Amino acid sequence: MAVLVTGGAGYIGSHTVLHLKAQGEEVIVLDNLEKGHRDALLDTTFYKGDLRDDLLLDEIFNTNNIDAVIHFAANSLVGESVEKPLEYYENNVIGSHHLIKKMVEHGINKIVFSSTAATYGNPTRVPIQEEDPTIPTNPYGDTKLAIEKLLQWADGAYGLKSVCLRYFNAAGADPEGRIGEDHTPESHLIPIVLQAALGQRDNVSIFGDDYPTEDGTCIRDYIHVLDLAAAHYLALRKLNNTRKSGIYNLGNGTGFSVKQVIDTCRRVTEKTIASKTAPRRAGDPAVLIASSSKARAELGWIPKYPTLEEIITHAWNWHSKHPDGYND
Ligand code: UDP
Repeated sequence: MAVLVTGGAGYIGSHTVLHLKAQGEEVIVLDNLEKGHRDALLDTTFYKGDLRDDLLLDEIFNTNNIDAVIHFAANSLVGESVEKPLEYYENNVIGSHHLIKKMVEHGINKIVFSSTAATYGNPTRVPIQEEDPTIPTNPYGDTKLAIEKLLQWADGAYGLKSVCLRYFNAAGADPEGRIGEDHTPESHLIPIVLQAALGQRDNVSIFGDDYPTEDGTCIRDYIHVLDLAAAHYLALRKLNNTRKSGIYNLGNGTGFSVKQVIDTCRRVTEKTIASKTAPRRAGDPAVLIASSSKARAELGWIPKYPTLEEIITHAWNWHSKHPDGYND
């Protein structure tokens, strides 16, 4: 039996593929390579194409013995989603609709869905728990919430069982350095700071230093990408064992400010990294920290690389050896 991973050439997708294969799973990837990288797939069976291509989905489901789907394929930038909501609803919501429709048609009844902390919007408390209000402040979070809701209805109507994983801030890279993070343009904090350490940027802009936090900069919960990957495998196992749908936060439960992240990067890289204060970025909540006690209790998930030092060390290992990212 095989697992279909949509968006498996992307950052979190490719690390999940690596982890699944290390656990002995057979993996098939579908990716349109708009944002993903062929080189991130290593030697995985691969279909290039779009979720909305019904004929391609038929071919994939007819020719492979697929038992479950892990669904990453999506546009995932908050700022871009505010500028291009039509594109986000089209790719994320309509794309997922096609995938789910085809899963139902082909009798595939297990899906792990890549969701996000952006489904919560401005948190009413920290750490955030799964039952807290979900009022997204941008189209990206809204599209992910819409898909979660479709999955809940699809459980009742068609018996499609789902685990939705709400990630906090994914960071780091494969500790063995085989794959890592490569976005163009880069918008995430840790790779941007490491680009400054490599001399590819003059400095790092700190988006706002007047937030109601100890040092005035935003606090986030950074979680190692391989710990996220491991949670997907555990979610599949849970679906196999219990046939019960669920929603889980994935974070370390510890927050670090933008300034603390930059300082940790300085320590890990032993480089001078200049920073400057810039205006706040629209839509950024001051503090996002996960309660992951539900994932720990129900999935048996224990992060293997919980410290910011380890996360940044693995990211630095990748970026310093691949300063221009993937070749392809
Ligand atoms: N950030 C920053 N400068 C940058 C990029 C990000 O100050 O060049 C801040 C951003 O405002 C947020 C935190 O770093 O508070 C993490 O941002 P990132 O884009 O990595 O992840 P997000 O929290 O948006 O998922």
